[in-house]
Amino acid sequence: MSGTILIIDELATNRIVLKVRLSAAPFRVIQAGSAREALRLVTAEAPDLILANARLGGQSATPFLRALRRTEWPGHVPVILLQGENDAAERLALLRAGADEVLARPVPESLLLARLRNLMRQRNADEELIGQTGAAAGFAEAQAGFARPGQIALFGTDRAGALALRGLIGEATPHRLSCLAIESGPPPAEQDLFVIQLARAQAEEGLRLLADLKATPGTRHAPVMLVLAPDAAQLAVTLLDMGADDVLLAPGGRDEFNLRLTRLLARKRHNEALRAQLRSGLEAALRDPLTGAYNRRHALPWLERQIAGLAHGHRSLAVMVADLDFFKQVNDRHGHAAGDAVLVAVTERLRTHLRASDLLARIGGEEFLIALPDTSRAEAQEVAERLCHAIRATPVVVPGTGGPIAVTLSLGVTVAAPHPGLPPPSLQALLEEADHALYAAKARGRDQARLSTPSAA
Ligand code: GH3
Ligand code: MG
Ligand code: MG
Repeated sequence: MSGTILIIDELATNRIVLKVRLSAAPFRVIQAGSAREALRLVTAEAPDLILANARLGGQSATPFLRALRRTEWPGHVPVILLQGENDAAERLALLRAGADEVLARPVPESLLLARLRNLMRQRNADEELIGQTGAAAGFAEAQAGFARPGQIALFGTDRAGALALRGLIGEATPHRLSCLAIESGPPPAEQDLFVIQLARAQAEEGLRLLADLKATPGTRHAPVMLVLAPDAAQLAVTLLDMGADDVLLAPGGRDEFNLRLTRLLARKRHNEALRAQLRSGLEAALRDPLTGAYNRRHALPWLERQIAGLAHGHRSLAVMVADLDFFKQVNDRHGHAAGDAVLVAVTERLRTHLRASDLLARIGGEEFLIALPDTSRAEAQEVAERLCHAIRATPVVVPGTGGPIAVTLSLGVTVAAPHPGLPPPSLQALLEEADHALYAAKARGRDQARLSTPSAA
């Protein structure tokens, strides 16, 4: 993993020591001797991670963090702070101000590098998601330490260990907690977050549980925090590299523990929202924005798959092309906006007369493609006539026009039957047959469905 790391320390010797420690990894290292210089470099160089002394300019790095979180662009730069000695109160203040991790010197080199890689990976994953959705970068909710209540599974060496974790979280928690022993494996109900307390003797079970959680579709987006003994640094390295979201060597106080839980939950929720947005964006790309019907981009590959199914035991497939009659006159008489409203109403009406498994796509201005899997010629004829009737029977009411607008629909229908041993018809050929039938329906006076003549086969 490569990237740019910004080291901040007033003492050049400290910076050099850190730089040497990082030299084993392929990072570009830049340095700042003060908070002010660091803020300038953040803007100018967009570092991927900041590694700083917990005290800057003779005071806590809290004001620096606040300034950084206010101004940083683009996105969230992870910050690891190094304390001169273990100071829980200072650590809590720094975490609250927006530090991602605070470690007390001396930090084993392997642990520092593992934490660094871990945070950079998290950031890359978050940014990739943000990039895909086009959402604005930023993670203010998590930094503010706010998260809706969640379902948290607490794993202990045994149930007593899990209850101890619950004791640490305290009575005042808004979250729903369940206590489990590691050996019982992942819990059945959906969880937002997993906390695993791990004794060294159980390292193997713990690693397996983490791997399972990260590989299972239902749990892989739920963050996992591990709580280890203070001397388990080597195990922490392994867990961080396996993708644990937070690893604590000794849990710290209640406030710190709850803050870390809340931040993990907030990050999960944030990413969940982005993934949902991504899914609906992908869905939107397959739909016509006016009517909500599918578009060609969805319809044609869908039909190709159905046609391929004919060679694999599917029953016959009906394909229809439907076109509104004299639609230009609707626009001419009532205006384009009224024409649009008619298109929306017609789509809705067609949809209610089709099955959920059928396809309805708008493939031209006032032209629809309809496909019905598992449908015989007789059934197709019946459905097509029902669709004509549904449009003809009730003129469309469009507010602001003189009165209901009468429209009719012409349909061309073709049915592809399965021919075991023969190649299925091409999509092109089916659409042409349906088009010919539509043309015949128009020529015979519109407001009707015509079936294409069956092919010779
Ligand atoms: P025919 O019975 O032969 O199909 O007659 P028609 O008037 O429906 O056929 P034509 O293809 O000549 O005209 C289609 C009209 O549909 C032209 C255009 O004004 C209208 N149209 C196409 N797309 C839209 C749209 O998105 N909104 C509205 N309001 N009108 C549209
Ligand atoms: Mg038309
Ligand atoms: Mg047309």
